[in-house]
Amino acid sequence: MLTTEQIEIVRPGDDRYDEARSAWNLAADLNPAAVAYPTTAQDVASIVTYAREHGLRVTGHGTGHNAAPHGDLSDTVLIKTERMRGVEIDPDARRARAEAGVLWAEVTAPASEHGLAPLSGSSPNVGVVGYFLGGGVSLGLARRFGVAANSVIAIELVTADGRLRRVDSDHDPELFWALRGGGGSFGIVTAIEFELYAVPELYGGVMLWPADRAREVFEAWVSFTRTAPDAFTSTARLLNVPDMPEVPELVRGRQLVAVDGVYVGPADDGAALIEPFRALRPEVDGFGPLPPVALSYVHMDPEDPMPGCSDSQLLDDVTSATIDRILAAAAPTPESPLGIVELRHLGGALRRRPKGAGVVGSFEAEYLAFAAGPAFDPASTAAVEAQLALVRDALAPEDSGREYMNFAERARDVGKFFGTQDAARLRALKARVDPDGTVVANHPV
Ligand SMILES: Cc1cc2nc3c(=O)[nH]c(=O)nc-3n(C[C@H](O)[C@H](O)[C@H](O)COP(=O)(O)OP(=O)(O)OC[C@H]3O[C@@H](n4cnc5c(N)ncnc54)[C@H](O)[C@@H]3O)c2cc1C
Repeated sequence: MLTTEQIEIVRPGDDRYDEARSAWNLAADLNPAAVAYPTTAQDVASIVTYAREHGLRVTGHGTGHNAAPHGDLSDTVLIKTERMRGVEIDPDARRARAEAGVLWAEVTAPASEHGLAPLSGSSPNVGVVGYFLGGGVSLGLARRFGVAANSVIAIELVTADGRLRRVDSDHDPELFWALRGGGGSFGIVTAIEFELYAVPELYGGVMLWPADRAREVFEAWVSFTRTAPDAFTSTARLLNVPDMPEVPELVRGRQLVAVDGVYVGPADDGAALIEPFRALRPEVDGFGPLPPVALSYVHMDPEDPMPGCSDSQLLDDVTSATIDRILAAAAPTPESPLGIVELRHLGGALRRRPKGAGVVGSFEAEYLAFAAGPAFDPASTAAVEAQLALVRDALAPEDSGREYMNFAERARDVGKFFGTQDAARLRALKARVDPDGTVVANHPV
């Protein structure tokens, strides 16, 4: 038994086990040896030490947004950090510190009161730690400020030896390098410190058209991305909105094409930049001046747990021919199993690797494609998988050959995330800090 009695541990057979083993992605079927709920870094150290001494592995879990690749975890203690929710904002230093269970909305809201924003992603309830460990592509700020992991200042973690450490550019720089993009293989993170950015003026939102306008909207978006300034980060999406009562009536059960984005700068300049989209007379035009906290909501990501499967690719380019192939493979119809086919514009500062960056410090790709659908049962899962395969084939000519860990919700060759040289460097580090393989991750190195 664990000696620290305050730590709640749930085991197979306990009443709460099914609830405890569930992840945000309800399609992930995890069967861990135990689920532990630490409230402090010391609790995490006790759990790691106990597991190692009992021949068990450990894995960190903020929300389970990317739990699907894990496998069944039957020899692993799943450390759910959801009770570690402390957030500190230092507006003068423009820094934040978040404990391991903090969700993005819990940082973006208080930071926004000071006109500041972290490089958070599109969802308000993705975990801060899991997001940074995979790299981090901010919805509205990515092209202006680069890969989110470059904004990390320090990481506190418990390594496989049970030791609590704080790593930064001066303290174990190799481990600090690996943690910024290399995932959860190197220890259980207990807290993370990162930069906030002054964004006094933001202009952004979403526009919607019926899906039969998809070709012209996608063409307009691609031509917009050819000249968009780094201060503008945007996405274009095909949406197949579920016909469910909780969905707003305006979009419920409809097939739509959407463009959303954020310009870091004055409203007049932002409005001038999006004029080509206004000229296409959207049915809904939600662009306007935004407070920083709105960056967490522009993309309207689902917040409630749901079962889903997805696929993604990093693309060198998108052309008219690509759009033809996407629409042939996945034009939204009421019968289509996919809920979303999305293209995000990368480039800008995302291509620039700053000195001292982590393993994922930049992306040598111009677009990020993502497609997903609900996976309620074997039949719907098979239908989604079949259509995801069509989308993957459709994008094959532009595929960069690399992949992005945070958007990979299935097991992948790590060479695709990091390149062979950096993958080997990560493995060498893993052998040094965790020779017995005590710490496992959804995407192990
Ligand atoms: C709706 C939605 C929107 C998204 N939007 C974006 C976006 O805009 N940009 C982007 O880059 N990504 C985005 N993502 C992807 C997201 O960043 C990844 O799914 C990320 O891994 C989620 O982290 P988490 O902690 O919430 O999830 P989890 O599944 O809990 O964690 C993912 C992995 O991180 C590691 N991990 C988590 N916590 C710890 C810890 N304390 N110690 C050690 N390892 C740990 C583990 O290996 C774990 O398996 C989105 C995902 C979804 C579902």
